[in-house]
Amino acid sequence: MTALNLRTTAEIQASDAAHHWHPFTDTAELAAKGTRVISSAQGCWLTTNDGDRLLDGMAGLWCVNVGYGREEIVEAVARQMRQLPYYNTFFQCTHPAATEFAEALSEVSPAHMSRVFFTNSGSESNDTVFRLARVYWDCLDKPSKKMFIGRRNAYHGSSVIGASLGGMGAMHAQSGLPVPGVHHIGQPYWFGEGGESDPAEFGRARARELEAAIDAIGEDNVCAFIAEPIQGAGGVIIPPETYWPEISRICREREILLIADEVICGFGRTGNWWGSDTYAIEPDLMSIAKGMTSGYIPMGGVLISDRVAEVVAHKAGEFYHGYTYSGHPAACAAGLANLRILREEKLVERVRDDLAGYLAKAWAGLADHPMVGEARTKGLLGALELASDSAARTRLAPLDGMGAGARCRDLCVENGLVMRAVGDTMIISPPLVISHGEIDELAARARKALDGLADAYARKGAA
Ligand code: PMP
Repeated sequence: MTALNLRTTAEIQASDAAHHWHPFTDTAELAAKGTRVISSAQGCWLTTNDGDRLLDGMAGLWCVNVGYGREEIVEAVARQMRQLPYYNTFFQCTHPAATEFAEALSEVSPAHMSRVFFTNSGSESNDTVFRLARVYWDCLDKPSKKMFIGRRNAYHGSSVIGASLGGMGAMHAQSGLPVPGVHHIGQPYWFGEGGESDPAEFGRARARELEAAIDAIGEDNVCAFIAEPIQGAGGVIIPPETYWPEISRICREREILLIADEVICGFGRTGNWWGSDTYAIEPDLMSIAKGMTSGYIPMGGVLISDRVAEVVAHKAGEFYHGYTYSGHPAACAAGLANLRILREEKLVERVRDDLAGYLAKAWAGLADHPMVGEARTKGLLGALELASDSAARTRLAPLDGMGAGARCRDLCVENGLVMRAVGDTMIISPPLVISHGEIDELAARARKALDGLADAYARKGAA
């Protein structure tokens, strides 16, 4: 056994290649390239095992909302672990941490949601909504209402149900998904799929695909529509302003549940507590995770509207669903301390009143870069569409077999910035504690990476 990190980077990489199978990774390619070893972090900055500093434009995986190195969370977890490291919340039991965290969550939840079901991840949260929504209709003597409608290029997790609700073609192709009972409609991705229509018209048209799907499947067979207020992993797809009002209208008029996957958008990311607040959505269920503990301890949950809770609580009898670690004491302690930081430091308000505008301006400064077709932000989410012609929204051809996005991502790392690539869409989701100076730094490093990309294409053109 070794202590924290007494090994050299090469030793860690070799051991990692031999024993550690990574998520969402081409294992052979990783072994050839070698892993990047991140050894510590503070605020918005990561430090590699070799001492290089990287500005974390992704808050880990969209989760470290309060930034790294928050002693308050570490202390709260240690205290809880000493007092009660584990107990379950089955069989008539609870513990103070679960109760206190559930109550605190209800204080920041939309007014019509006063209960939470605890899970350990976003995927488990979406498995939970899948089962809970079906039970809801069973309770109302409508057992035919089983079909879920999701969207292509949505991400709802990597469990069998999460991946099925999501609309990632590559994930479906690899393991024969989706499971039966899930239908996908188009996404409101104007830059990629808007064609000749203007964004407003396109947003309405994509929303109306929900109406058409309900008609085709039959309202009596539809259980719920599930969507991220802003698609994250799909490429920070900020829907046209016309999209959500039209979806909300359809959900009001039709007898189906509306499920918001707030795993990324929740806990202040869009400048309100919930992406649903930002788009005036009134969901029946909300999946949460990530910013719930800022990633310090794994945790997820489902926020349940009183409408659903009343029905299921009174008619279903036992809900045969739960996880050994539902409401884990240490995770609840981390979540409570995290929530206290978000509230006391007014981080959500800070995003809304200050950082969202500041980032929007810094990001807009990149829009006229010759490699950029569109620069968009909402709250502290942002995307850059790489394109060779911004007006025509033409994509760049791969260079030496490597896509422009992947190349740009590597150039970002060379320039000390973690920015993620989804195809040729570069995306950011920095911690909510980021300063103005760090936002300037983020934009400056992104510009350097874009300049490097332009050079690479120019060199190839001249060759
Ligand atoms: N839903 C959304 C919107 C997500 O972004 C993610 C993770 N990126 C998930 C669900 C799945 O969460 P987890 O990885 O914690 O299972």
